[in-house]
Amino acid sequence: MDLNTKLIHTSGIGPSLQAKLDKLNLVTVEDLITHYPFRYEDFAKISKIAEGRVGEVNTFSGEIWSIKNTYTKSHKILTKAILNDGSGTVEIIWFNNRWIIKNIKVGDKIQASGKFDYFAGKLGLVAPEWEKVDTEALHTGRLVPVYPETYGLTSKWLRAKIHQFLPKINLEDPIPVEVTKDFLPLKNALEKIHFPENYSDILQAKKRLSFDELFYIQLSTLKKREDWQNKQVTKELKIDNVKFQKFIDKLPFKLTSAQKRVIDEVLNDVSKTSPANRLIQGEVGSGKTVVAAVIIYLAYLNNLKSILMAPTEILAFQHHSTLTKLLKPYGINVGIYTGSKKSVIKPVILSETKDLDSSLIAQNDKKEMSDVIVGTHALLSEKLELNDVGLVVVDEQQRFGVAQRSLLRSRAKSPHFITMTATPIPRTVALTIYGDLDLSVIDEMPVGRLEVKTHYVPEARRDDSYKFMEKLVNTGQQIYIITPLIDESETLLSAKAAKAEYERLQTKIFPKLKLGLLHGKLKPKEKEEIINDFKSHKIDILVSTSVVEVGMDIPNATIMVIEGAERFGLSQLHQLRGRVGRGDIQSYCFLFTEQEIPQIIQRLKNLEHIHAGLKLAELDLQTRGSGEIYGTKQSGDWDLKIASLSDLELIEKARNAAKKILQDDLTLDKHPNLLGKLLNLENIMPD
Ligand code: ADP
Ligand code: MG
Repeated sequence: MDLNTKLIHTSGIGPSLQAKLDKLNLVTVEDLITHYPFRYEDFAKISKIAEGRVGEVNTFSGEIWSIKNTYTKSHKILTKAILNDGSGTVEIIWFNNRWIIKNIKVGDKIQASGKFDYFAGKLGLVAPEWEKVDTEALHTGRLVPVYPETYGLTSKWLRAKIHQFLPKINLEDPIPVEVTKDFLPLKNALEKIHFPENYSDILQAKKRLSFDELFYIQLSTLKKREDWQNKQVTKELKIDNVKFQKFIDKLPFKLTSAQKRVIDEVLNDVSKTSPANRLIQGEVGSGKTVVAAVIIYLAYLNNLKSILMAPTEILAFQHHSTLTKLLKPYGINVGIYTGSKKSVIKPVILSETKDLDSSLIAQNDKKEMSDVIVGTHALLSEKLELNDVGLVVVDEQQRFGVAQRSLLRSRAKSPHFITMTATPIPRTVALTIYGDLDLSVIDEMPVGRLEVKTHYVPEARRDDSYKFMEKLVNTGQQIYIITPLIDESETLLSAKAAKAEYERLQTKIFPKLKLGLLHGKLKPKEKEEIINDFKSHKIDILVSTSVVEVGMDIPNATIMVIEGAERFGLSQLHQLRGRVGRGDIQSYCFLFTEQEIPQIIQRLKNLEHIHAGLKLAELDLQTRGSGEIYGTKQSGDWDLKIASLSDLELIEKARNAAKKILQDDLTLDKHPNLLGKLLNLENIMPD
């Protein structure tokens, strides 16, 4: 068998077992042998029965003197055996397992690992893992791997299967030996990760397998970057300095020097014929939108259209209104194109744009397209024809999958491509998952912003905080109240929870104030109305699911209340908090939890004194893993199996190795195995 052999085609695995394997995403032999243990149980030490440590896991090795089934009052099977090792005897008890009695006979030599403890008043080995001693010790008496399991598929089964397959696999290492000479050979590493003799084996194996994983990511992203720069051609943007400066001078505020620097970096890219591919990162509120507006204006001066894609309708509507304000005075016409996932996709023409004759137009209308179109993922629809697009901007890019981003890019026929995010990106992450992009950072906030005072609020102080809120509302300020995240994405359940909380607050807590309700299940029109009502202060308190997380900009809102805060990552909480503190009034963020547990409270209290998104992201990275933070799991980007995105040294090693290979062999013609591996990977992750 080789790595691509389907598990279902190996003996002993039929459709019902495969259905269980599917739950763990195990389809090929490669999937199985790269299903790595997430921890190990240390059964390595065999103890004398006479010296057994009560209350701990012990491994005993001896001869079975007797074995029999007894039954509990509720007719459950209890299998009881007596094991002797010369130093003493111990009773072993197994629960409800009809197979044991058939597999262990008096006189068998077995090893059993389990908790040595009191059961029904008697000291014994309770429900241990066991195996016969004449077979190679696999499940006991060593460091035993524990795998992510699913119902009906135990670590014991996985362990045995991997053990059976590993020696039989025709395993060719696609990476040249010069590259990996500092590490264990691949086969060796695989053996040691699953069946280590000691902890040093695990560490060495992890190093090698992590290196491989990072190396392939680097190879893929660096290759993409080179291909992109070498092969794609687009129109360079010429800069009319006089007009450009005038536009900047007329902005309603002075740009920060970070904004100016980032604009310069983008200008440098777009003045070339190889398309820009740049990610702009900037804290919530650092002013990314205006940077986009400046570049869009430049594209317009070059007779090119621009597209701005945002992850939610709310945000698209907001960008539409911001861009209209900034660009309309120059005769630039801004269209909008959204449509909730389930409705038929059709252009929404806002009354504002309808008044102009050349408004946003879909293909079926055969009229000219707007100079700028702001939209959601509806922009990806074939129905919208994208002609003469010179610039594509994707806001909150982490909300989109690789596939969506690249679809838009190719539909617009390789334009200059700018992505934006508020998610802070540690250097290690920038070098790996975003290795194919240039990165600009807006690391400065507009002047006059005050830090948002953040407090974890114990349940006992809930009423006080409501009084405080009412007081501030009476001075003319507004509040967001975020309801708990029930599912990863907006579900009916979250919407229901938000509605219930809204009703409770409106009737019981704030009967005199005007409350509004916002959630992902509302129709686009309804959402827009609510947001507009909040903007125009017809609503004092907006009760919402985390849909407001991205990008909303309402300076008069000064309190952010987050219920069930423990369900969010620190970065996400920071993004939510960024919805307030946008004007020059002191703002507040109150965090409530559903579980008052010390670890949870401690984690949340980080937000009280840490105001830098990057620090919080790094904390998340240590405690939650990368997938959850960078949305890589949801969006199908890189999903790391073993490597850690905090290991800078290994990341740099992998990057240098990948660079070196591509330097002499960009097409990978001389490394067919590597090319094959990459194609395989990119099949899973289209780009
Ligand atoms: P984000 O980076 O989170 O997308 P926005 O682009 O929404 O931030 O900007 C946040 C707010 O800051 C907006 O109201 C915007 O008008 C304002 N803003 C942007 N740049 C500046 C600046 N240089 N000085 C003052 N206010 C600014
Ligand atoms: Mg924004």
